[in-house]
Amino acid sequence: MRTALFLLLSVTFCIANAQSPRFKAKYLNSISDSSLQQHVYILASDSLKGRNTGTEGERKAARYIVENFEQNGLKPFNDTTFLQNIGLWSWQWKEFKLESKQRDFENYKDFVYLSTAPVAPEIKAECVFIGNGSDSIFNHIDVEGKIAFVCVKSFRSWYRIASKTKREGAVAIFMVHQSDNDEFLKASERNRVLHQQLSIGTREPVFSESMIKAFAVNQNITEELFQLPYDSLKQLNYEQIKSLPAPKLTLACQLKVEIADANNVVGYIPGKGKTNEAVVISAHYDHIGERHNGICVGADDNASGTAAVIELAKAFAPLEGKLNRDLIFLCTSGEEKGLLGAFYFADHPQEHRFDIKANVNIDMIGRIDSTHKSNYIYTIGNNHYPEFDSLLHVANNMLEPMKIQYDYNKSQGFGNFLRLSDHYAFHRINIPVMGFFSGLHKDYHTPNDTPDKIDYQLMEQRVKLIFTTTYLAAQKTAFTSQTDE
Ligand SMILES: [Zn+2]
Repeated sequence: MRTALFLLLSVTFCIANAQSPRFKAKYLNSISDSSLQQHVYILASDSLKGRNTGTEGERKAARYIVENFEQNGLKPFNDTTFLQNIGLWSWQWKEFKLESKQRDFENYKDFVYLSTAPVAPEIKAECVFIGNGSDSIFNHIDVEGKIAFVCVKSFRSWYRIASKTKREGAVAIFMVHQSDNDEFLKASERNRVLHQQLSIGTREPVFSESMIKAFAVNQNITEELFQLPYDSLKQLNYEQIKSLPAPKLTLACQLKVEIADANNVVGYIPGKGKTNEAVVISAHYDHIGERHNGICVGADDNASGTAAVIELAKAFAPLEGKLNRDLIFLCTSGEEKGLLGAFYFADHPQEHRFDIKANVNIDMIGRIDSTHKSNYIYTIGNNHYPEFDSLLHVANNMLEPMKIQYDYNKSQGFGNFLRLSDHYAFHRINIPVMGFFSGLHKDYHTPNDTPDKIDYQLMEQRVKLIFTTTYLAAQKTAFTSQTDE
């Protein structure tokens, strides 16, 4: 009862301030569909290649956000930089080397590496041919410490024969397709694409010495090394195999492993400065890169939310020094990899001076889903925080009201949406949260999530509601938190 009375008083106070025509004109009117559209088109352009965590495309997006924060006079979250490295590791293939005494072989044309473990330091060993690698051959041919060449039926199911050959002591396994050399070219192309990708993880990758080192090779180099046509090689008996030449090869596959250049972009607008209390407005700006043979530009997911944060920063900028709480504008990296940027921010309070009291999170607010025609928004997580939730309704009544939908709060059927975006990083440490979302659609995580499919006028209405709710949260003096999950 006491809480309720307190809430009523403080909310009434806020409305009096917020409803004045001056408030509306000065702050809300700066939020426009055209500038939201401009941000979305830039963030979702092909040149950012889907903003995958740790990639240059993501860093381009980060630079754009920083520029906008600077233009609007935001301060770096730690008073030094807007970029917060989120402590991930990245690794990517750097070099593949295969040499004989006679020549260097060409990656993807002569050979391709199939395994994930690096070959470093390099291996220097003799080659041995073992036919189709049947069990009996190992009774006759010694593969210990050697590079074994084996004929396979498929490059897709190489693991069984490679691990058997490795158990017999081979240091590397080179696989040649039994019949169709085009299969080598296909395997080569598949792996070329994989080799260009950047891998990201929360820990430094560990590769044990004992991991299998397997290659696919062109039939031509098998012929060159063993000096027999491939069709004749396949027919040899054990004794003939023993009399083949045993050329030496040198091989190395180098990975570049380093701390990933993946960063949250974080700025703030100071409040009156009486406390360190702050409200965090967040949206992830990373996306999933290239998939399904196309660039997933992620216009709705989540160029829309990022554009909203940039627009909100502009709208709140004139309120510097006037609100009870500081406002933190947090564009996170690594969301698509498991909310990594938001977890990092929430779990490293020592990197800033703020005492976070609430989180407003924005993830996909540009579309209309199949169950609506207009004017609605889903909110997530606020059902756990009745006081925060009531601010949303006060804000909504101050504007042209939207339908506020709670369907994703009973989201067992959809998956638990409370855990599926950055608000969860705050909810799990009992900070009141409210996630804004316009719903799922068939273009989700495909190259079809493009900027032309966004309803910018409706997005403007949604951003105005988020502005007003955040304004009330920044003015409110206390929240009690109520968590049951
Ligand atoms: Zn998202």
